[in-house]
Amino acid sequence: MLIGLDIGGTKVEGVIVSPHNAQAVERLRMETPKTNYADFLLVVKGVIDTLSEKAEIDSIGIGCCGSVNRVTGKMQGANILYLNGEDFIGDLRASYSVPVAITNDANCLAISEFKSGAAKEAQDSCLAVIIGTGCGGGVVIHGDIVDGQHGLGGEIGHNPLPHFDSEKDGPAVQCYCGSYNCNESFVSGTGFERTWALKHAPLSAKEIFAAYAQGDQSAVAHVEYYSDCLARVLGNIVNIIDPEVIVLGGGVSNQDAIYPLVAERLNHYTFSKNVNTPIRKAEHGDSSGVLGAAYLPVMKELI
Ligand SMILES: [Zn+2]
Repeated sequence: MLIGLDIGGTKVEGVIVSPHNAQAVERLRMETPKTNYADFLLVVKGVIDTLSEKAEIDSIGIGCCGSVNRVTGKMQGANILYLNGEDFIGDLRASYSVPVAITNDANCLAISEFKSGAAKEAQDSCLAVIIGTGCGGGVVIHGDIVDGQHGLGGEIGHNPLPHFDSEKDGPAVQCYCGSYNCNESFVSGTGFERTWALKHAPLSAKEIFAAYAQGDQSAVAHVEYYSDCLARVLGNIVNIIDPEVIVLGGGVSNQDAIYPLVAERLNHYTFSKNVNTPIRKAEHGDSSGVLGAAYLPVMKELI
């Protein structure tokens, strides 16, 4: 059996998943300690140990914020701040004899949807994009997640959005990453609200989509603009990896209105104008983190 852990700022959630289907057979959830790494490690090991008592475990996969520095093996960029600089994976590997692997939430989305979700019929590849508070991506090619030399594989939220001369609503927007006009500033849920507020009184994404459903002209124009931006982002990736399926997750992915609009515009930004890549809503919802983490160590194996 596979253990998958989804670690966030508020909770550490663990599941046992059968390697033969997508069903989580046991679940356990504990609060993420606010204090220090030693307490954190105790909680994580506590979740693993409790789950291990329920079944024989073949591997442990971790979905977590931040990444592992390739040179030092230590955590970096985690928003659980005391994790940064710690040899988290090394400490787990020292405690358990089964394979231990770690990746981020967007990669977990891609893995879980490829293995048993909206892209499960794909033989080789899929692209998963989170359009929520931020924008992240995960790429599966040849049945395995593309992590890359620096752990940046799939980080499409921080490519610059292709712009047109006609789009000059104020100065370029600087992202927290230091770059300008990152895709995330336009196609995340936060970006959707930000670009609306450049022209209108601020509203939440839900309010704008509700106005869209009512036929409000400003909202219609904005949702069309947003869908065009997302098609540019996806079209760029199609021209590089041409995945079998594109899966969208995160808050904005729940808005059904965007799917036909993005699908119609995708061909505007691909080399071939006959691209018909399916663009689908993620199926696993909040479970994608634990499921993707559980599958991570066995990605290349048939499930
Ligand atoms: Zn950025």
